[in-house]
Amino acid sequence: MSLAEQLDTVTDAAAGTVDRHATTETFESTNPASGAVVGVFPVHDADAVRETVERARAAAQRWAELGFDGRRERLAAYRGYLARRMHELADLVHRENGKPHADAILEITLAIDHLAWAGAHARKTLGPRRVRAGMLAANHAAYLEYQPLGVVGVIGPWNYPVFTPMGSIAYALAAGNAVVFKPSEHTPAVGAWLAAAWRAAVPDVADALQVVTGYGETGAALCRAGVGKLAFTGSAPTGRKVMAACAETLTPVLMELGGKDAMIVDDDADVAAAADAAVWGAMSNAGQTCIGIERVYVSSPVYDRFVAEVTERVQGLRPGSDDEAAYGPMTMASQADVVRRHLDDATSSGGRAVLGGTLDGGFVAPTVLLDVPESSAAVREETFGPTLTITRVRDAEEALERTNATSYGLAGAVFSRSRARAMDLARRMRSGMTSVNSVLTFASVPALPFGGVGESGFGRIHGEDGLKEFTRAKAITRQRYALPVNLMSFTRPPAAADALARVMGVVHGRHR
Ligand code: NDP
Repeated sequence: MSLAEQLDTVTDAAAGTVDRHATTETFESTNPASGAVVGVFPVHDADAVRETVERARAAAQRWAELGFDGRRERLAAYRGYLARRMHELADLVHRENGKPHADAILEITLAIDHLAWAGAHARKTLGPRRVRAGMLAANHAAYLEYQPLGVVGVIGPWNYPVFTPMGSIAYALAAGNAVVFKPSEHTPAVGAWLAAAWRAAVPDVADALQVVTGYGETGAALCRAGVGKLAFTGSAPTGRKVMAACAETLTPVLMELGGKDAMIVDDDADVAAAADAAVWGAMSNAGQTCIGIERVYVSSPVYDRFVAEVTERVQGLRPGSDDEAAYGPMTMASQADVVRRHLDDATSSGGRAVLGGTLDGGFVAPTVLLDVPESSAAVREETFGPTLTITRVRDAEEALERTNATSYGLAGAVFSRSRARAMDLARRMRSGMTSVNSVLTFASVPALPFGGVGESGFGRIHGEDGLKEFTRAKAITRQRYALPVNLMSFTRPPAAADALARVMGVVHGRHR
C-alpha cells in the first residue's frame, strides 16, 4: 500500500468512528522532523464522544458475554494482527512521533507482550473463586469475582503512542470492558491505526475498541461521558483537570503521571554498565520517557570514572530522523522550550554542561549537566528531554535521600554489586518501580504492576493489579444450611449474645 493510501486509511479509520455525526472541524497531525502532514482527523465534540461511548456500552455487553476464553481468543487475533504488521505500524510511529523505526519496533513488541499476558492471566486473576467463609459465617459458602466496569475511557500521551495506552487498553479489554481511547492530538494517526487494526482483527465485536480524536476538550468530554473508569496517562497538571472533570460524575480515575526518576550508583557498582544504562535511560526517545532517568547520584569514589564513561558514550550519540540517528526530534515543539528553560536554570545557578546544551530546530543535543544545585528546575521538575544531571554524593545513603526528595515517585534504578544492599536501596526508594543493575526493565515484565506514588499518580496498569484496576470486586455468600440459632434475626434467643461474647473471649481474649 502506498504512503498516501496508508494515510487515507488511518484518517478514514478515525472518521469512521463518528460517521454518524456531522463533525466538520478537523485537525492535522504532522511529522515533528519535517512538518509534513501525517493525517487529518475529526475533532470529536461532546455529542460525538457520548455516542461513541453508547456504542461501546452495547459492545461491552457482548464482549463481557464472550467470557474469558472468547476474549482471550480475540485478543490473540489482535496481537497476531499487530505482530504481522509491526513494520507498517512502526513506520507510522516514526513519522508521527519522530522516534527511530527500531525504537518503535521495541515499543510495539512490549505492547504485544502485554496483550498476551493480559489475555492469558485474566481468568486466573479475575475469575470466580471460593474463599473461606470464616467462623461467623461457617454455614455459608463465600465467593469472590472481579466484574468488568463496562466502558473504560483511556486518554494517552504522545511519547509512547502504542505501549502507553496499551498498558490500559489491553488490561481493560482482558478484564471484559469495552474501551474508548482518546490519543494525544500529536499522535492521532497511531491511535486511529490501533482502532482500525482492532476492527479488522476482531470484526464480530468491532466496537469494543474505538477511538475519538481531538484536543483537550475531547478528552474532557470523555471524562463526562459516563464511562465506568477513566485511565489517564499524561502530565500532573492535566491529570488534575481530568480528576476535576471526572469528579462531577464520580467517575473513578487511574492516574499515570510524570516522573523525575533517579539512578543511584553505589561505590561497588559496575561503573561502565551503569553509565551505559544511564545514557540509554536518559537519552533514548529523546528523553521523552516518563520512566526515563533524569538524575544520577554517584558515590564519590566512582564519580569521576562514571562521568568519563557517560561522556564517552554520549559523544557518539546524534539526534536525527535518519536510520542511523540515536533518537529523533522533540515530538511536541513546545517541549524544547521546557528543556531550554531547565538548561538555562542549571547553568545560571552554577551547573556546567559538559556536553550538549544546544538545540537545533526540533532536535536537542544529548546534554550532560554537572554540579547542578538541587534547587534548580533541572533537578526538581520533569525535563522530558535528552538531558542528565550527574551529582557527586558521599555514599549511597545520601544518594537515596536526594532521590527521595522529590514530589514525584514514579520509578528509578540502583547500581550495586551487593545484592542485599541494592535490594535494600530499591525497597526504600520512594517510587512505584525500581530496576537493579538495569533501567526501565520493570516495564517489560507484564506480571509486574506499573504506576507511581505522589505526583506520579496512583493506580496500577500491568500485572494482576492492572487487571483488577479495571474491575469491581463482587462478593457473594450462599447459605448452605441454616443454623438452629440465627443471630441476625429478631427471633434469636436473649442468651445468644452472651454465648457469642463467651466464644469471642475464648478465641480472641487471650491476645494482649
Ligand atoms: P498531557 O498531560 O499534556 O496530555 C495527556 C493527554 O491528555 C493528551 O491526550 C491530551 O490531549 C489530553 N488532555 C489535555 N487536556 C485535557 C483535559 N482538559 N481533559 C482531558 N484530557 C486532556 O501530557 P503529554 O501528552 O504531554 O504527555 C507527557 C506526560 O505524560 C509527561 O509528564 C510524562 O511523564 C507523562 N507520562 C506518564 C506515563 C506513566 O505511565 N506514568 C507514561 C508516559 C507519559 P491533547 O494532546 O489533545 O492536548
